[in-house]
Amino acid sequence: MESLDNPEVVNALAKVAGANSLDIVGELSEESEMDEFSLAERLGMDVKTVRKILYKLYDSRLVKFRRIKDEETGWYIYLWKFHDDKLEALVKRMRRDKITNVHERLEYERAHQFFMCENGCTRMPFENAMEYGFICNDCSGKLGFLDNSNIIDNLEAQLKEIERTIGS
Ligand SMILES: [Zn+2]
Repeated sequence: MESLDNPEVVNALAKVAGANSLDIVGELSEESEMDEFSLAERLGMDVKTVRKILYKLYDSRLVKFRRIKDEETGWYIYLWKFHDDKLEALVKRMRRDKITNVHERLEYERAHQFFMCENGCTRMPFENAMEYGFICNDCSGKLGFLDNSNIIDNLEAQLKEIERTIGS
């Protein structure tokens, strides 16, 4: 299973179910299944919060549950189980989305020349700057050429970093 120390896993869980979902996943991954009251007790959280997080995790298919009837009280108990294959799939999907996003930004930066307001209000591609007569729409400052090679280098470095993570 994906390590819960992996920053990509931490980000993925925080995104779908909030930062404190990590604790719940941590507990669930140690046990075969657990009910929400035991989870709440172990984590020192209230049951409502635990339930809310479990539902979010369930929406992302990261947990499943089965319902059993407590013969004494007649109440139903929900036993939750962590679905670690789905966590791996989620991390992979988010990684792919991130790669696509960085690629698109990189293509955009490579495909355009940018102009920026001398007072820093705005940055736009050449075509738009020309339409405005190279005058800022906000402050009437001059729009000057902006070298975006730093931005391109930065995006390329991000892509390399993601690829390195996948390789490891
Ligand atoms: Zn301006």
